[in-house]
Amino acid sequence: MQHIHHRYGKLEAVHDVSLDVHSGEVVCLLGPSGCGKTTLLRIAAGLEDVQQGSVAINDHSVAASGHRSLPPEKRNVGLAFQDSALFPHLRVIENVTFGIKSQPSGQRRQRALDLLEQLGMARYANAYPHTLSGGQQQRVALARALAPEPQVMLLDEPFSSLDARLRDRIRDDTLHVLKRAGAGTLLVTHDPEEAMFMADRIALMKAGRVVQIGTPRELYCYPRDPFVVTFFGDVNELSGRVQGGGVQTPLGPVDAGGLPDGACAQVLIRPEALHVAELPESGTSHRYSHVIMAKLLGRTSLLHICAHGQTGQEAHLHARVPGVFLPAEGQPISIRLDPSQVFVFPAATGARAA
Ligand code: ATP
Repeated sequence: MQHIHHRYGKLEAVHDVSLDVHSGEVVCLLGPSGCGKTTLLRIAAGLEDVQQGSVAINDHSVAASGHRSLPPEKRNVGLAFQDSALFPHLRVIENVTFGIKSQPSGQRRQRALDLLEQLGMARYANAYPHTLSGGQQQRVALARALAPEPQVMLLDEPFSSLDARLRDRIRDDTLHVLKRAGAGTLLVTHDPEEAMFMADRIALMKAGRVVQIGTPRELYCYPRDPFVVTFFGDVNELSGRVQGGGVQTPLGPVDAGGLPDGACAQVLIRPEALHVAELPESGTSHRYSHVIMAKLLGRTSLLHICAHGQTGQEAHLHARVPGVFLPAEGQPISIRLDPSQVFVFPAATGARAA
């Protein structure tokens, strides 16, 4: 997709997005509700006209502004959308074999059964869609999209109707099926964890624009923008002025990342960056960093802490520590900071300093 712009009346839903998806690659369009993900997917599918920009599959132009575009059924793309309706009068197996052409019917049936098996739906092969739950219908829609072995798979929130436990399994199965099929996949999700699990690359969107595109590691470890940091979960926000190459915070000085002295800095600290240890009771806990509240979340514990800096600064912060760690309220603590989970940006513009 090259330089795609799209408007609905006065609303600019997509602004100058260019995106490549390679064979065998899963690219996730990630972003908050209304940022333009589905619009982009519909443009790739041919369900929405290209107003500005162009779309090509295997170097063949399928849509460009001012030209006649190739209809969806001729693009060799597999579609599974949130509301993908199955054919109500066809059984599950018939729904899945429907799009497979150029194979003898025995082989078509076998391929459909294999896919249903891989997605845990083989025993419903003879059922009619209305007898299936929403999540089961979604899995059949996925199998139907994959069955013709398309070059491109376009998936819009394909796991949204599944409960959390089933979702993990079906995501896993789907990823294996996609990788085996070798198609290029564009998958829409608003869930950062899902994107990190499924994607080779993530395109994080905000208000119609791609803010950053890269591997999950690139976005998580080298965020270009405060929005990228905050989109991947809970973050502590501090601010301060740069002095001698550092920003003074209640957790001590942090590297200013190349910001000039005197600049106002925004300091974003992931809760897992705070390494907390209990200190012996001193009787003067108010002068130390201390615990306000501790909650067990399962695999991690979340501590609400009051951090006291040497210069008298104070801040309420979240710390996420592995396992069961539930110190009592008022417990004095020491805090060590993992600098790789601390991100400093200029306060005013929001662009990355270094
Ligand atoms: P969600 O995650 O909620 O599905 P999204 O990121 O997929 O959101 P889009 O569905 O692409 O976002 O919508 C982008 C913007 O365009 C939104 O503000 C939406 O209200 C608007 N929009 C989408 N489709 C239409 C339409 N057919 N007519 C008018 N406005 C639309």
